[in-house]
Amino acid sequence: MTGFDTVIVIDWSGGNDRGPTPKADAIWACVARDGRTQRPLYMRNRQVAEAWLQDILRAEREAGRRVFVGLDFPFGYPAGFAEALCGRADPLAVWDWLAERITDTPKANNRFDVAGKINALFGGRGPFWGNALRRDIAGLPRTKADYVSPFAAHRKAEAQAPGAFSVWQLAGAGSVGSQALMGLPVLARLRRSFGSDVTVWPFEARDAGITLAEVWPSLMSTQIAAQRQQDEIKDAAQVRVLAQAILDAPADALVQMLAEGDPEEGWIFGLGHVDQLAGTRTLAPPPLTNDCFALPPGVAWTPVDSALETLRTRLHPVTRTQMVSVTDALGRVLGAEVRAKRANPPRANTAVDGYGFAGGASAGAHVMPLAAGRAAAGRDFDAALAAGQALRVLTGAALPEGVDTVVLQEDVRVAGDEIAFSGPIKQGANTRAAGEDVAEGAVIAEAGRRVTPADLALMTATGVAEVAVHVPLRVGILSTGDELAELGAAARADQIYDANRPMLQGLVQQLGHDPIDLGRVPDNRAAVSAALDRGATRCDVILTSGGASDGDEDHVSAVLRSAGAMTLWRIAIKPGRPLALGMWQETPVFGLPGNPVAAMVCTLIFARPALAQLAGAGWQLPMGYDVPAGFSKTKKPGRREYLRGRVRDGRAEAFASEGSGRISGLSWAEGLIELGDGAQDIAPGDPVRFIPWGGFGL
Ligand code: AMP
Ligand code: MG
Repeated sequence: MTGFDTVIVIDWSGGNDRGPTPKADAIWACVARDGRTQRPLYMRNRQVAEAWLQDILRAEREAGRRVFVGLDFPFGYPAGFAEALCGRADPLAVWDWLAERITDTPKANNRFDVAGKINALFGGRGPFWGNALRRDIAGLPRTKADYVSPFAAHRKAEAQAPGAFSVWQLAGAGSVGSQALMGLPVLARLRRSFGSDVTVWPFEARDAGITLAEVWPSLMSTQIAAQRQQDEIKDAAQVRVLAQAILDAPADALVQMLAEGDPEEGWIFGLGHVDQLAGTRTLAPPPLTNDCFALPPGVAWTPVDSALETLRTRLHPVTRTQMVSVTDALGRVLGAEVRAKRANPPRANTAVDGYGFAGGASAGAHVMPLAAGRAAAGRDFDAALAAGQALRVLTGAALPEGVDTVVLQEDVRVAGDEIAFSGPIKQGANTRAAGEDVAEGAVIAEAGRRVTPADLALMTATGVAEVAVHVPLRVGILSTGDELAELGAAARADQIYDANRPMLQGLVQQLGHDPIDLGRVPDNRAAVSAALDRGATRCDVILTSGGASDGDEDHVSAVLRSAGAMTLWRIAIKPGRPLALGMWQETPVFGLPGNPVAAMVCTLIFARPALAQLAGAGWQLPMGYDVPAGFSKTKKPGRREYLRGRVRDGRAEAFASEGSGRISGLSWAEGLIELGDGAQDIAPGDPVRFIPWGGFGL
């Protein structure tokens, strides 16, 4: 049995009390349970942390939950140390040895003295080194100048963990030796309190309620950087992201990770399995609140723009982010800004085929000796070019030392080992400077952007191999109505085919989300509510069509209203009857009109920007342009109208009938003509706003 109900990750500290205000380089802990992380906790000193850990573990075990506790310091020392110190190759004997000798209060501890005593056993010049105190400690070298150690500097695990510090180093930024000396006694006491209900990975193989394991947040530094929230303290982000990743790790991955390890030195949990940790979903934003669709009371007809403003301000991203390879990123929404890992171009190079030399050339004729060899793209000229010489260079070749100017080959005559050409040629001509396109570290794409094919080129050119993207928004689609028959089945005379579902699925897919078919239900409250139940467990948002008005057969409205979290939006728009907007088990539901024309218009005008907002892509305005009208129309004030339209010979045509059941007109159209809220008297040639389907992102 390997699953964990609760994951606790702790960023430990070897230092003294850090005061009451949360700050970096202190102890931070995060608890993840029920699919999400709780707010990271700041602990000012180890005494607070130890008491908290004892309490929470007691409570978790009383609740019957299996707990994984990850701490960010080594659980073992390089091979041979345990035997040499305690007389047996048991790393847990070292824990007890230290627990008997280390003393600790918020203001002071004896770790350097204990390290000095250990060193004295081995000749007094190692294995520990580093001293953050003013006073000298007998047997503890301050630096590695006079250092001698009988043990390896690193454990085997650290060969696979570039950048990991040696556990012998007790002082200096990033060092971990003090954390281990001050942490292992705490763990030794936990083992004593919880007895056989604790197992220490990878030293013990017992099946127990509490698993203690060594973790190393740097293993996931890319993911942590991508998911760190604005103003979040780095230590808090580290414990939060790591706790969520371990909680989310698939069972088979956990089995593999737990199977690793060294019985004496210990191991870093997850080492070599970062993809399995990082490939899981790693950030769960809070759900929307139940009142997010409430409208100000007393408004009879809501103008389109205020309805949109309400959606824009009330909705926020609900999808987590994950790391993916750039090759899988096309069309995905970036979860964090992307920065160039490398400049483009990385080095100065030539933009043309020609001859390179230094310093430009004045007006008049020039003859230069041609050096032997050449520089081509991917084939550097490895020497420096002597002053006054020219070198054959091909497009894309890095400029060798001694070349900063290139003359086009078309402008050069070559004879033997000389070239001739006429000046003037400006210094730097026909070359590209290093980083002239993109500097290293520059932001190349903002969070919320949908990745385009050109972005793939830019990311690849600047050395970005992985990006954080939002997990696609899962959009459930449900049709309602007694009259509906299923595509492909025989329809009775009193039935019509369910045309909305394939249309809405197509729209959702083209908008870049994951459509989830929730099927079709009759006009019956139990059926509608069962379908919403199903949808809420599988989807981030649900689109229904039909039954959304106020009438007797409008069961979507009735059911959402019974849940106490629905507002019927009467929007001043044609086509489109009221929109029923509600929350069902923390899942937003858009109750669209049944009429296919109204359903499509309401999807494009209201659901599209809302879905983009939920998916992390930000609010999105449709992109239209003005064209002369090819029709005449008089329109009353008070509501916005959308006509099915297309452009022919530079003029906007409107579909002959405005009837909102005319599906043929939707198919005829290539976009919508938008007529503003006020009265209008449109004559042929007057400008009207046309929004092509592409302007909605279709
Ligand atoms: P309702 O919004 O349920 O009152 O439906 C309005 C109109 O749209 C009625 O004529 C329905 O028959 C029609 N309708 C509802 N759902 C669909 C659907 N999925 N496909 C085609 N027409 C539909
Ligand atoms: Mg109906």
